[in-house]
Amino acid sequence: MQIVTSKRSPNFTDLVIGVDYVVLHYTAATLERTLAIFMNPASEVSAHIVIDRDGSVHELVPCFDGSALRAWHAGKSRLDSQDGTLIEGFNDRSIGIELVNLNGNIIPYTEAQYAALFKTIERLKGSYPALAKPESIVGHEQIAGFRGKCDPGILFEWERLFSVCYPNGGMPARPPLCRQAVADRILALAKALGVTIEPSSGEVRVPSGADGLFAHLSSLIESALSRDDR
Ligand SMILES: [Zn+2]
Repeated sequence: MQIVTSKRSPNFTDLVIGVDYVVLHYTAATLERTLAIFMNPASEVSAHIVIDRDGSVHELVPCFDGSALRAWHAGKSRLDSQDGTLIEGFNDRSIGIELVNLNGNIIPYTEAQYAALFKTIERLKGSYPALAKPESIVGHEQIAGFRGKCDPGILFEWERLFSVCYPNGGMPARPPLCRQAVADRILALAKALGVTIEPSSGEVRVPSGADGLFAHLSSLIESALSRDDR
């Protein structure tokens, strides 16, 4: 698997973390815009890995060589683990993978992305023993849904991930935060802005200028989904 390392993010803590989890996200932006945000010190956000629509894998914060530095992708986050303990602060214990997608609640991921993601997880499993369990792969929405995070979203095929990467493991529940009715509204909004999605390839076309607007509206919807009691 070829990994692009020409772009590095300055947004990380120079601290080697113990990796117990992988957190999956969508970017809500194109690759170009995502890399620009992650390489801008003022944004104070990053992820270890970004996987583009064509399956190309970009390492922004080191993790593939067997030791992961602390990227800033999860934010305030928590999860009730299987044994009932509360786990918090996922930046201290996880590798963040961003899948390029304007909104995974309405736009499918591409075949090339699934193939690259599965290879990436296989490779990381070789370096980080805790990733041998399917429970170690979570979505941002499962750990930060209480503040409106809804990625990777309804259209991410969790069952496929678990059956390919963990054929002998279980199928942990990964319920999406966003309701289908809300996703339908977002899709209507995207269409009104002129966004088109090619059904077979998953290729997305956004009219120039609508990218930022769409991302902004999507983030408003995230805020609307936010429930502090979740
Ligand atoms: Zn996220």
